[in-house]
Amino acid sequence: MKRMSSDATHSKSLDAHNAIGLRKTSLLLLSAFLFSFSGYAQDTVEPSLNTEELELTSWLDSQEGNMLEMLERITNINSGSLNKQGVNELASIFSEELQQLGFSLSTLPGEVIEMPSCPGSDYNIDVADHILASKSGSGAKLLLMGHLDTVFPPDSPFQKFSREGDTMYGPGVSDMKGGLVVMLYALKALNENGELEDKSITVLLNSDEEIGSLTSRKYLEEQATMHDWGLVYESSGNNRLTRERKGLGQARFVVHGRASHAGGAHKQGRSAIKELAYKIVQIENMTDYETGVTVNVGVVSGGEARNTIAPCAEALIDLRYPEAQQGIDAIAQFEEIFGSVFSYPVDSGEITTQSWTNLHRPAKIATPESDYLLNKTIAIGRLLGQELGVSDSGGGTDGSLTQAVGLPTLDSLGSDGSGAHSNREQGRVSSLVERAKLSAVLIRRLAAE
Ligand SMILES: [Zn+2]
Repeated sequence: MKRMSSDATHSKSLDAHNAIGLRKTSLLLLSAFLFSFSGYAQDTVEPSLNTEELELTSWLDSQEGNMLEMLERITNINSGSLNKQGVNELASIFSEELQQLGFSLSTLPGEVIEMPSCPGSDYNIDVADHILASKSGSGAKLLLMGHLDTVFPPDSPFQKFSREGDTMYGPGVSDMKGGLVVMLYALKALNENGELEDKSITVLLNSDEEIGSLTSRKYLEEQATMHDWGLVYESSGNNRLTRERKGLGQARFVVHGRASHAGGAHKQGRSAIKELAYKIVQIENMTDYETGVTVNVGVVSGGEARNTIAPCAEALIDLRYPEAQQGIDAIAQFEEIFGSVFSYPVDSGEITTQSWTNLHRPAKIATPESDYLLNKTIAIGRLLGQELGVSDSGGGTDGSLTQAVGLPTLDSLGSDGSGAHSNREQGRVSSLVERAKLSAVLIRRLAAE
């Protein structure tokens, strides 16, 4: 049995972030004071936009055409997580853009992750490299994050960008190629104003977020400990920024049985499909809406022919949980289910299993510092005429990883959209400029703190 590292082995090293200094400590105390009355409140007031900020936002007002053009171009390049060539193509477009803005580029190696699978079905994951762009300056250190990959493989029927009025459609327009364009144009706006040069900003674009950041997690966590604030450009829905998120886990299970003729030697067969079916029912029954733990057997495959008892069957499972211990408990329950045999005498030894499990995203729990960042962003939005709400989400982002190691992170700064991970994915065109303005001002003010 092969198993990847889990959250249980990733200790949440808040100490690693102690270098932030007094400036941040006083912010923390102020925020703790403000929030101590009602838990969470949105009562931050930000100073009005100054001349430089008005210049930034009016430059961005003229950029919708360019932003759309870029988004169309990158949406039409397939960058499914396992399409290395497409992901690399996107990486080189962004590398070039960031280099032009004065960033130094480096590559963080992706790698191959081996997964158990039935003979003939190769589930090993070969991940493309990630890119790290950095520039040093004064003031607070900002870590900007985004993912280059989408969930749509090259053979998906959903491949092309289109637009109708204020709505755009296409794979990644909101998750999160739209967000990548928002991030880039916020930086371009600062650059236009001569304000980027003195800022300390790192951009990490990974290529495996949609499969759980399995190879980029270590880079994200490492960078998180070296910065003061984290900004993730995942999309927001209905103009709502996300405050807290569930933790995520995944599992891959393979059941091996014994092939036999379905007519001539039925009794001698050991059906892997039959055994997997028993296990699936038990795994699905772990869902408990009361506790918030949900399990989804999202993919199953197996068998060779109608008239052959199936020698092998496999399943890919998704897990969501509000608290760390629930994730650990769920993985233990998976292992118990997969360690037991339900369909044939247990001691026959003819049914064997392999499993791979991973708690790839801790739950994102709000802190006074992350609430400060969230409220500051909402207050800046108000100055820009953008009414932004707040909600929690069952979906995870890389912001959960960085926040868990102590970096206060806001993870829904991308374009506004809906229908992610489906062929209904769409985004609001006007949100591209809106969110770029929001980010440009936010980056400027955070860097000055
Ligand atoms: Zn995403």
